[in-house]
Formats: sequence, C-alpha cells, structure tokens
Amino acid sequence: MSAGKLIVVTGPSGVGKGTLLQKLLERYPDRLIFSISATTRSPRTGEEHGREYFFWDRAEFEQKRDAGEFLESAEYAGNLYGTPRQPIDQAIALGKIVILEIELEGARQVAQSFPDAQRIFIAPPSMEILESRLRDRSTDSEAQITKRLHHAKLEIAAANEFNITIINDDLAIALQQLEKALFHD
Ligand code: ADP
Ligand code: 5GP
Repeated sequence: MSAGKLIVVTGPSGVGKGTLLQKLLERYPDRLIFSISATTRSPRTGEEHGREYFFWDRAEFEQKRDAGEFLESAEYAGNLYGTPRQPIDQAIALGKIVILEIELEGARQVAQSFPDAQRIFIAPPSMEILESRLRDRSTDSEAQITKRLHHAKLEIAAANEFNITIINDDLAIALQQLEKALFHD
C-alpha cells in the first residue's frame, strides 16, 4: 500500500479553495480524504454539522483543544477553528492523501509538527478580484468581509512560506496545477 501524505491548502477567504477542492474530490473520491474541521462560527445556509464543519460552541472547542484533541487550531476573524487529530492519523495510516484546508496560523503549526507535509498556497489574481469574489459569494456580513480582507493581506505576504503558490485565475488551469502538485510533485 502506498504511504499516505498530508497536504495543507491555505489562501485567503474567497480565493476559491473550497471550489477547487470540491472539484478535486469529485475526480478522486477514493484517493483523497478531506479533514472536517471544527469551528465556533455559526453555520452558513446549507452547511451541516459533521459535513462542512463540526460546529461546536467555544466551551466545547476549548475543552477538546486543551485535551490535545486538535492537530492544530487558531483564531480567525473572531472564531476558533481546528483540525481534529484522530481521523487524520487514521487516514494517513490507510495510505490516503489527506487535505487540510486551513488558515495561515494553523499551516505554520502543521509545518512544525509534520515537516513533511506539502504546503500549497492559493492566491487571487488581485485584491480587487478577491474582494469581488467574497462579495459575490454573499455568505458573509460586511464586518466579516472587512476582517477577511485584512487577513488576506497578511496571508498573501506569507505565501513564500509555502512549497507552491497557485494563482486561481482561470479555474480549470488552477485545478490542473493543483492536481499536478498533489500527484506528481
Ligand atoms: P474559499 O473556499 O477560498 O473561501 P470559495 O471556493 O467559496 O472560496 O470561492 C469564493 C467565490 O469565488 C465563490 O463564489 C466561487 O464560485 C468563486 N470562484 C472560485 N474560483 C473562481 C475562479 N477561478 N474564477 C471566478 N470565480 C471563482
Ligand atoms: P470559513 O469561515 O470561510 O469557512 O473559514 C475561514 C478560514 O478558516 C479559512 O481560511 C479556512 O481555511 C480556515 N479554516 C478552516 N478550518 C480550519 C482549521 O481546522 N484550522 C485552521 N487553522 N483554519 C481553518
């Protein structure tokens, strides 16, 4: 059985990480495992507990974090986010490619604890395009959009910490580059 590996995908909110990864999963349902994160933010319309995220309240999240149940965790735009550890260990042992879609602080923690993880940064063609994608998505309040754009600048400035940067301009091209990074690099 081939060895499993850990892939970290990071990039500003609204850049298209979810869109790209969903397409990838449709193509390779048997090889890829997406980590389901936990968060203290409220579910968006259409999101389900246990599918997009485990939606835990702050007390529950902090209790699990303090018990060491997360591989990494971070605060982002006023909410806590974290990767439950146990499903990741299990999937890697089964030889799967495990994908964590997480923000910068968490990616840095994984770089320390799993130095062999491949870290991929998804960048927007420009800040203007990022902002219009965030707005057109219509999922976040104006206050959340402001916080997310603030984080975006910090994240883009750290892109050089990653093994590869993919610019999500044309979706099909970005998807091809992501596929190559996952299966051939
Ligand atoms: P993220 O998961 O990074 O927060 P999403 O996948 O939710 O971002 O994408 C944000 C918005 O941008 C969505 O409305 C999505 O349809 C759109 N989008 C994603 N990739 C592209 C692209 N290459 N060109 C144009 N729009 C895109
Ligand atoms: P959103 O609220 O838009 O779903 O996610 C906000 C940010 O949190 C995104 O940058 C996303 O990648 C990041 N995120 C999602 N899950 C995790 C996680 O488990 N850990 C960390 N550190 N960040 C996460």
